[in-house]
Amino acid sequence: MFISEIYQSNQGEGQLTGTPSVFLRTSGCNLRCGFCDTPFASWHPEGQMLGIDAILDQLIQIANGIRHVVITGGEPMLPDEINLLCERLGAADFHITMETAGTIYRRLNCDLMSISPKLSNSTPTAERAGRWRQKHEQQRYRPKIVSQMIAEYDYQLKFVVAEPSDLHEIKVYLADLNDYSPGRVMLMPEGVDRKTLTQRASWLEQICQQEGFTFCQRAHIFWYGNKRGT
Ligand code: SF4
Repeated sequence: MFISEIYQSNQGEGQLTGTPSVFLRTSGCNLRCGFCDTPFASWHPEGQMLGIDAILDQLIQIANGIRHVVITGGEPMLPDEINLLCERLGAADFHITMETAGTIYRRLNCDLMSISPKLSNSTPTAERAGRWRQKHEQQRYRPKIVSQMIAEYDYQLKFVVAEPSDLHEIKVYLADLNDYSPGRVMLMPEGVDRKTLTQRASWLEQICQQEGFTFCQRAHIFWYGNKRGT
């Protein structure tokens, strides 16, 4: 598998916020979000090819007793080897969170499917993305796949919100799902600095209260800044 990085930190987003975790970041993505904060795993994939045994060796060493693994990317559901990796991690008694954009379905061993469907605010400019703009638009919207994940996994549904007007699109998206629990819908401000996240939280928390959704801050930006390996 093409691996961008493996590191230990605290989960900064979602229902396990604050949980000490080992992060395994796969490199490569089928989308090109304009706001992507890990371009080294999507727009310009970097990393090294590692076999499953080598990944597990490194991960167990870095974990040093930590039991939570967060598999992220890029898009970690892309490589076929992800099924075997999750099987091996499960056999080693790790709790697995999968951070995915919800565009690719796989049946695999996962304790928490953390699905972050991409809205139109993710669409990159034609100047920056070229033909990837159209590919992104063709691939980002997959409510049937997200519905299947919701039916089969313990899940959280995280939407990245840049403007209050994004709420309308989120409601349209949710209406296209077979089923979901509003309490598992998390709205997260878009941003990679504390000032932007704080400003957007000022209206987003209120929207969450009104709609019965869960507000989700990007806590790792407050703890560490927008730094690689955190
Ligand atoms: S899906 Fe995630 S990793 Fe891929 S381009 Fe979008 S934000 Fe970046």
